[in-house]
Amino acid sequence: VSFGYEDVAPAEKTRRVGDVFRNVAARYDLMNDAMSGGMHRLWKDRFVRRVKPQKGEQILDMAGGTGDIAFRMERSGAAITVADINAAMLEVGMERAAQRGIDGLVWTEANAETLQFPDRFFDAYTIAFGIRNVTDIPAALREAYRVLKRGGRFFCLEFSTTLWPGFADVYEVYSHRLVPKLGKLLADDEDSYRYLIESIRRFPDMPTFEAMIAEAGFVRTRVEPVLGGLVAIHSGWKI
Ligand code: SAM
Repeated sequence: VSFGYEDVAPAEKTRRVGDVFRNVAARYDLMNDAMSGGMHRLWKDRFVRRVKPQKGEQILDMAGGTGDIAFRMERSGAAITVADINAAMLEVGMERAAQRGIDGLVWTEANAETLQFPDRFFDAYTIAFGIRNVTDIPAALREAYRVLKRGGRFFCLEFSTTLWPGFADVYEVYSHRLVPKLGKLLADDEDSYRYLIESIRRFPDMPTFEAMIAEAGFVRTRVEPVLGGLVAIHSGWKI
């Protein structure tokens, strides 16, 4: 499997991704704002509008990190579990929750590829900017399918490939030249940001990823491109 520019063994990828998010955890929220010019907030708002969490629902926010998606869903009154493989990211999230006076979330360590939750437990599964870091993506999609109830819905927010040519050129320069420099300047960690950018470039394009979701068993799959596909919201249903 690929880790940035390198091909590595699956276990090695998982370990290195662990290092990346341990290194960036403390500065993660600041860096998201700096690198997206605050736009990640709008993408996340839009994503949660699509999810439409409802009071009484059980929702799993996988790769939930420091809680950005969970905080947006919490007001709905749904019961939300934030799961992430990285304890450092979850710790930052729990501190943020405490600062905001949010105490209804469940935080748990979990690998998306092998979930500890029972079959057909959740009404919705969300994963935002997480799936491309997962080593075995088909396994994670199968697990998402397993833990969802019939009628449950799957939502994924992820960077993809923009189909707007001029914009793609600008983004290419921005991401490969500027992002690692910003990573060095603001977080003293050029390598982690180099990995994050390269992992975006390697991620399957919109139709390919949509087909992978269908392959896991989901139906009525959809993809909603944002900024021509720079970011995409994929969704599907379990029936
Ligand atoms: N969802 C949050 C957000 O939108 O701000 C966090 C996104 S962050 C870019 C990616 C997260 O994926 C990290 O917290 C990382 O630890 C987590 N992650 C990576 N591989 C994972 C896996 N196999 N299972 C669960 N979480 C994973």
